[in-house]
Amino acid sequence: MKMINMNNDLKELKEKIFREIKRDEVVNFLKDVLSTPSVSGNELEVAKVFEEWLKKYNIKYDVVAARKESPNIIAYLEGEEKQPTLLFNGHMDTVPEGDLDKWSVDPYGAVIKDDRIYGRGATDMKSALVAMTVAAGLLNYFEVPLKGSLKISYVSDEEPGGEYGTLFLLKNGYLDATYGIVGEPSHLDIVIAHKGVVRFKLITKGVAKHAAYVEEAVNAVEKMAKLIVAISNMKFDVEEHPLLGHPTICAGSTIKGGTAINIVPDRCEATFDIRTIPGLSSDDVYRVLEETIRKEKEKDPEIDVTIEKILVGEASEVKRDSAIVRFAEESVIEILNRKPKIMGCLPACDARFLNHAGIPTICAFGPGGDDCNPHGYDEFVSISEVIDAIKVYVSVILKAVGVKM
Ligand SMILES: [Zn+2]
Repeated sequence: MKMINMNNDLKELKEKIFREIKRDEVVNFLKDVLSTPSVSGNELEVAKVFEEWLKKYNIKYDVVAARKESPNIIAYLEGEEKQPTLLFNGHMDTVPEGDLDKWSVDPYGAVIKDDRIYGRGATDMKSALVAMTVAAGLLNYFEVPLKGSLKISYVSDEEPGGEYGTLFLLKNGYLDATYGIVGEPSHLDIVIAHKGVVRFKLITKGVAKHAAYVEEAVNAVEKMAKLIVAISNMKFDVEEHPLLGHPTICAGSTIKGGTAINIVPDRCEATFDIRTIPGLSSDDVYRVLEETIRKEKEKDPEIDVTIEKILVGEASEVKRDSAIVRFAEESVIEILNRKPKIMGCLPACDARFLNHAGIPTICAFGPGGDDCNPHGYDEFVSISEVIDAIKVYVSVILKAVGVKM
């Protein structure tokens, strides 16, 4: 009986909260953040805009910066028991706007056409941060007695790799949480896994000679060709992932070698991009790579090669049956009347740091999606979808943090 009352009370509370969502206010918030450029490395101004809105909603926050021009904000709603703690995470930085001639609107004009608002960062991912902030603001406004706590981290530096953003906050103990959600665009479907990436360069060295005297020369491009074939045939000891499929190898994504048509090349450089899946770490990849090179050298002792590591981003995954996935799924069903898709996605995001730190984190659960041109021209988000996201986030917070009623 008590459960039923509790559910009814919660339902009423949610309806009361949803009636208080003001579309104009959400639009103004979106306009403010979208008219403030925040290309990675220059997030200071947009952070100030988020701070203004946090003040408006009376939400407590701290600013923590690894470098002055790229601050991070952590906002809090603290409940009586503080546990469990739900972490919402989103990045304030964007990729550059690119070729202005290819935009039909000003990328920082926050132009509105019908239900769409346009701008760099509209879907990736300032709108999710707006929705998370408004959701927290509403709970604050109604003084909802939370059991646990909510943290929202507004981070810098996600697009270049997260060193000054999520990774910095995590290493310094700011992001302790029971579970988390990264609000990357997913049309409010639930992305529970993403691939990882391992990028490196190989440099082969040879002996240059006149092209007429190849017997005395060592052709560095020819040696690289052998390595490229061997590397593209590498096999990894990992089972196919149900959502992400197999690891992939792009061998020789760029290649450079030789100085003239009649000189045997004594140097060749090639880059490689390998996409991993959960269960295959970057260390595993390098082990297989070194073994492959060793075997090639056995066959051809003239191969002289060095490896230059460029970038590593591990694959990550939150379990399908984890509590946070269940809360997100139930919320979409309740609020939007549809069953969300449970998906994997190929690009990596900040969720990898959180999942690897033992905080089960949904990789993407936010408004907008690939069809909204993230990183492209005329990026946009649907305003009504941002409002849906506010409602869904309110519901997730109530479920994940708990309410004392
Ligand atoms: Zn993003």
